[in-house]
Amino acid sequence: MSRQRYWGTPIPIIHCEEHGAVPVPEKDLPVVLPQDCVPDGSGNPLNKREDFLACSCPVCGKPARRETDTMDTFVDSSRYFMRYCDPKNDQAMVGAGTDYWMPMDQYIGGIEHAILHLLYARFWTKVMRDLGLVKIDEPFTKLLTQGMVLNEAFSRTTTGKQYFWAHELDIARDEHAKVISATAKSDGQPVTYEGWTTMSKSKNNGVDPQDLIEKYGADTARLYTMFTAPPEATLEWNDAALEGSYRFLRRVWNFGLKLAAGNPAPGTAASYGKQAQALRREIHTVLRGSTTTTSACSTTRWCRAR
Ligand SMILES: [Zn+2]
Repeated sequence: MSRQRYWGTPIPIIHCEEHGAVPVPEKDLPVVLPQDCVPDGSGNPLNKREDFLACSCPVCGKPARRETDTMDTFVDSSRYFMRYCDPKNDQAMVGAGTDYWMPMDQYIGGIEHAILHLLYARFWTKVMRDLGLVKIDEPFTKLLTQGMVLNEAFSRTTTGKQYFWAHELDIARDEHAKVISATAKSDGQPVTYEGWTTMSKSKNNGVDPQDLIEKYGADTARLYTMFTAPPEATLEWNDAALEGSYRFLRRVWNFGLKLAAGNPAPGTAASYGKQAQALRREIHTVLRGSTTTTSACSTTRWCRAR
């Protein structure tokens, strides 16, 4: 689990010529890294830090060298959440807080976590269980693997592969909006349609949330991304549907304004007109449904009714 990098959890070992690898005594833990190392690309900068390297052997007291390898990042990510349950515990790594909060109710992560972090975190938990540090057997109760957001990608291969932004192209589509052909506006020459792929900086098919926020506002960006597909499903980006979310919010806004015009003073329910009372009742029914059930059934019913 070691790596030859400066910034990581130090491995608390001291190397003595006579006694070999000796653990740092518990009273001297934790080993603290210097924070002013400047990596210059020529290996682990800790190897040049005499103030870090020089120490004495815990067994014989003679000059010794400190271990400069650090632990892989997964060592930290496999257990930090248990420390969060007991952040102020200065007697132990985990304690009563961990017994109370763990296992975690809901894990949210991309599919790449399935073979990396989830595996290591479970392994780590089981070691802690075997050492008697925690009572749990599994760290996570439920897993939600969030879906990817896809967008269309267009490229051309000449000397290397070049990707185009959609706005740089003239794109012909059939009646189902499927791409028939695409040409670059700059030279009128065809480009290759690569289909739906994950958004990527290198493929020029990403969408910057800041642009959406500037054009439509944060509510539209949020509504679109949360409503278009369930969180675990793959989402194909669609500018037209984004416009639809914007129009929907405007309709809600105008509807509210119209009602408010007849009922200018926000106050007690009794001071509301009939329509506003009905709306207020509906809103509170939805609120109750969304806070007391885990499914979105009442929201769906509300949407269907309109
Ligand atoms: Zn020694």
